[in-house]
Amino acid sequence: MVRILDPQLRRALADRVRYCHEMGIYDFYRRDFNEGGRFSGSTEAKSPTGEMFAASLSLSRSELELREEMAARRSAVVPIIEENIFEAVSPQPEYGVADPVAALQRIREDLGDCTRCKLHRLGRKQIVFGVGNPGAELMFVGEGPGADEDAQGVPFVGRAGQLLNNMIKAMGLRREDVYIANIVKCRPPGNRQPERDECETCSPFLMRQIATVKPKAMVALGATAAKNLLAMDAPMSELRGRWYDFKPAGSDPAWPGARLAVTYHPAFLLRDPRQKGEAWKDLQMVMKYLGIAPPRKAAE
Ligand code: SF4
Repeated sequence: MVRILDPQLRRALADRVRYCHEMGIYDFYRRDFNEGGRFSGSTEAKSPTGEMFAASLSLSRSELELREEMAARRSAVVPIIEENIFEAVSPQPEYGVADPVAALQRIREDLGDCTRCKLHRLGRKQIVFGVGNPGAELMFVGEGPGADEDAQGVPFVGRAGQLLNNMIKAMGLRREDVYIANIVKCRPPGNRQPERDECETCSPFLMRQIATVKPKAMVALGATAAKNLLAMDAPMSELRGRWYDFKPAGSDPAWPGARLAVTYHPAFLLRDPRQKGEAWKDLQMVMKYLGIAPPRKAAE
């Protein structure tokens, strides 16, 4: 199973690797671990011209393994990072609110009539916050609202939403059993994909929703949702069929985090129904983890 750090941290690490590459720094070397499995000492990076860079670190083995995984372009690459990347996020208004309904309400109030990214002035009718059971064991995350969702203020209510409902039903669940949200809460114009700056501005609110609901499992619907949640740029063929550990920064230490799976977006399945069988395999993986008995009939 792949262990995923918080998306913001992962994005920061990816940015740092990119930055190093842009500076012409590719080769990094690390020194040995101590008995506690923690790396202490210096990590060195070497540019093509032979110039050496060093930074003091205190990182766990899994954190270093993650950095190796991120550096797909070159082998044995470990980025230099400063420890302040690991600083805890500031407390949010909902922190300490035990009732998830009230906590979600605080997040919604904090979002307000949001103008934080350009989507607010590109034709949205309303913000589509999220819907469902605030204590759900299973959470679905899509890309962003479409025209129907924008009109009704509820995620996944159009044709794709009907297919998602069928998928949930096929799992032996009801829509009201799960929680459903999107990476961005305002409709991108012309149903285009949300852009990176829009996702990065909006997703902290989604992270807070996830940290409040504390699902046991999550399903990213489509490549855009998966790539943003996991901060991984990989094709669906690589993203699907495996579990990722997922836990937003600053969430309840008593919550172990969610297991995240990736499947196709229902809108894609409407365009290519031949992939429904593959999506069903993904959902069966989720059902097995949640201990849901396979129903007699699969999604149609
Ligand atoms: S997409 Fe998110 S960040 Fe952008 S305006 Fe809408 S609610 Fe605000």
